[in-house]
Amino acid sequence: MNPLDDRLDALRGTVRPLNYNARAVAALTINPGCGRRAVMDAAGVDKTRIAAQTGFPAPFGMSPFALAHGNAFEAQVKANGCAELLRLLRDKLALPIPEVSYIPLDVVGDLVDRNVRYRRTRNELLQAAQSDGDEPRTLFDHPMLRLRVGGHDVFLEPDVVTFQLGGRFHVIEIKSFAVIDGQADGDQVAAATKQAAVYILALRELLAEVGVPPEAVSHDVILVTPENFSFRATATMIDARQQIDVVRRQLSRLTRIDTLLDALPDGVTLDLAPDADGTPTRPSEELVDALGSVDSRYQPSCLANCELAGFCRDEARTAQSVDVLGPTVRDDLGGLDTIGTALDLARGKRAPSADQREVTRALRHAARLRDALLGGAA
Ligand code: SF4
Repeated sequence: MNPLDDRLDALRGTVRPLNYNARAVAALTINPGCGRRAVMDAAGVDKTRIAAQTGFPAPFGMSPFALAHGNAFEAQVKANGCAELLRLLRDKLALPIPEVSYIPLDVVGDLVDRNVRYRRTRNELLQAAQSDGDEPRTLFDHPMLRLRVGGHDVFLEPDVVTFQLGGRFHVIEIKSFAVIDGQADGDQVAAATKQAAVYILALRELLAEVGVPPEAVSHDVILVTPENFSFRATATMIDARQQIDVVRRQLSRLTRIDTLLDALPDGVTLDLAPDADGTPTRPSEELVDALGSVDSRYQPSCLANCELAGFCRDEARTAQSVDVLGPTVRDDLGGLDTIGTALDLARGKRAPSADQREVTRALRHAARLRDALLGGAA
């Protein structure tokens, strides 16, 4: 435990921290300017429960049916030491896999402690990376990884299998969305590839600790999905180089977690103060005040990526923030904070300051065009 962890524990309160996952890291990189999400994820805060307590339940989430379907598909692919997965790797991708060993890394004896699991993962992967190939060490299930996010180490618990072939590791993502006639939903494939890119970076970070070069982890991801509405699995190899570069670049732009914590008022906490049954007892108004003390950067893409989107959108709308218009319009409005200011400048109700003259000219031009179009349509 270090002082930073103590501060994050105080922010989270009395409940156990949630583990990070690649979806959270990928979402963080979609909106790297948001300090609110960054500190809440670093503290392991349950954003879904916080959102519900503020009166703005998370706008998305998998249905129980979809979750059960996904878990059943993954269990089928991994059954009997990943027999189905190995068949796919051999038959569909024509990979030459002579001998196989399957190493589950989700528990170490009776221990599920994240540090213990990380050390076990590290030992197994390093042995594999440094082996001369005498012993088959092929499939590593549920590795516990670590990644530096905002200057703070976070644990990642991937539902993936890491697969070693010819001295290189590959990340295998098992997803339950279907591939129909060889085609899958582009957004879902992109999201899965971005998550795999996070794991690739974490694996490279782990191996770099002992001088293993990044090329030891392939940039190709193996995506395993159901085929044609059935439970039969298929596998596809995807080049994730672009996503790896994007995630790496965005991670490097994140503000450090300790800097974000320094900006918070003393004693602020997002503790839900659950009672003996786990029901939150923290008054909603108190929680809203605490959330409001952490800087955010709402943008419309939050609606698909962050549990707090309903809350943050309402906050941004109430403040008439230009953030609700999205990053492109916000950037075009060059430094204007509120929609009200933009409208007043456009309608000539307000004189622009020296640095608002250019954007005001553009706004008035747009207003004239709009009036002409509406006049023409009347
Ligand atoms: S919804 Fe709010 S907390 Fe989440 S990323 Fe967007 S602005 Fe940040």
